[in-house]
Amino acid sequence: MVQLHKAPSNPKETASNTNNLTIPNYPYQNLKFILFLIFVMKRLTYTEISYLLTLLRLKEENKKLSTGKLAEIFKVKPSSIIDVIRKLELYGLIKRNLWRDIELTGEGKSLALEILHNHRVLEVYFKKVFSLEDEVCCKEASKIDYFIGKEIINKMCKVLGYPEDCIHGKPLIHEFCIKE
Ligand SMILES: [Zn+2]
Ligand SMILES: [Zn+2]
Repeated sequence: MVQLHKAPSNPKETASNTNNLTIPNYPYQNLKFILFLIFVMKRLTYTEISYLLTLLRLKEENKKLSTGKLAEIFKVKPSSIIDVIRKLELYGLIKRNLWRDIELTGEGKSLALEILHNHRVLEVYFKKVFSLEDEVCCKEASKIDYFIGKEIINKMCKVLGYPEDCIHGKPLIHEFCIKE
């Protein structure tokens, strides 16, 4: 059973200065992970990231993760996604077992959750501020969820009051947000 719990609220995250959101000054325990995120995100393409996100979505839906399943979703041959799988594995984001089933590592899951968080925040923002259709919100969010900066996303979360669900009713987890 997949566990996508909301992170327990961390008191350290509440003490923060709005004008001080640069990485070296993050006053909380996840600094090491944030640095890892930046390292990895600079090296993965959007396509590679979309495989990771798809794996997380499959996991959320309790489905089996495999190269075959990914190939089916992306409508490509299993052989053509093997390089992506190897790269994700090299960066420690996924693991493969003997039967070639795929597992997300803790880092892989956190990275995917972070991008999913951005996606869902953007959707909520587009819906609330511009009253756009759900489908449009989702499509436009997909175009920038991976590229948008941490600082602006944090400000959006704050303006929206850290919503707990996205427009599709899926959980919005603010694990790496600085709550001001
Ligand atoms: Zn969406
Ligand atoms: Zn947030």
